[in-house]
Amino acid sequence: MRIDTEILKPGVWVFSGFTNGNVLALETSDGLVLVDAQTTKRVASLDSALRRVSARPVRWVVNTHFHEDHTSGNAWFRERGARVLAHTGVRRQASKDTTIAELQWHRTPLPQAAMPDVEFDRTYQIISGGDTVVVTHPDPAHTDGDAFVWLPRHNILHIGDVFEVGAPPFVDWWSGGSLDGMLRAIDEVLTKIDENTRIVPGHGAVSRKADLAQYRVMLATVQSRVRAGLSDGTDAETLARSAVSGFEASLGGERRARQFGAQMVAGLRRK
Ligand SMILES: [Zn+2]
Repeated sequence: MRIDTEILKPGVWVFSGFTNGNVLALETSDGLVLVDAQTTKRVASLDSALRRVSARPVRWVVNTHFHEDHTSGNAWFRERGARVLAHTGVRRQASKDTTIAELQWHRTPLPQAAMPDVEFDRTYQIISGGDTVVVTHPDPAHTDGDAFVWLPRHNILHIGDVFEVGAPPFVDWWSGGSLDGMLRAIDEVLTKIDENTRIVPGHGAVSRKADLAQYRVMLATVQSRVRAGLSDGTDAETLARSAVSGFEASLGGERRARQFGAQMVAGLRRK
């Protein structure tokens, strides 16, 4: 399985591939700190890619949220001695069996072995070697158990699926997520970062502040179009298409943009 490795700074890499979540890795003198762990299927390939850049063991995995494409690989690293850190919402949401009728999606619980074993509520600092990793929980955004992971020494931030690049984002209303929350979380991030910050999205290319600002415009525009259409009584299919008009390229093409429009209609109508 193909895993791409990108060097952000000496000792900091992003591993990506297929549609699974971006994994950020930081090497410290005490070992590696990972952000997210991909899936059961791909974690062995991820581990081989890690072994090609570093001989140090994985000490920590930090999950940005509970979705399986970011967490099911946890088990692999736990078995090999890593601790898995996540917000308390991760275990709660990952334990559920959920059917999302609107999206024809059935989610099964995460296996016990992949569950986090260190939990936090607002903020947590990992000190590893001489380096610090700052983990914070925004109010409900992509889900109600999100974590942002900040590497202050490197000016690098992994914000999970609150930000997706070149693909439609997802608001998980079914596990406490909120579009308003995503917009608020992005606004807060934008006040804290600068032009040199590298932002690792949950999926897609590593980006910068201007890209996140542009993405925020897309989200807010689609939101207001959907709200207006819902109060006008526009039919769902027309609205799903018109709400994303002009943003198709940044959403991964016309078909995926339309799916995103439909998801926004379903989610915002739900409230
Ligand atoms: Zn997700």
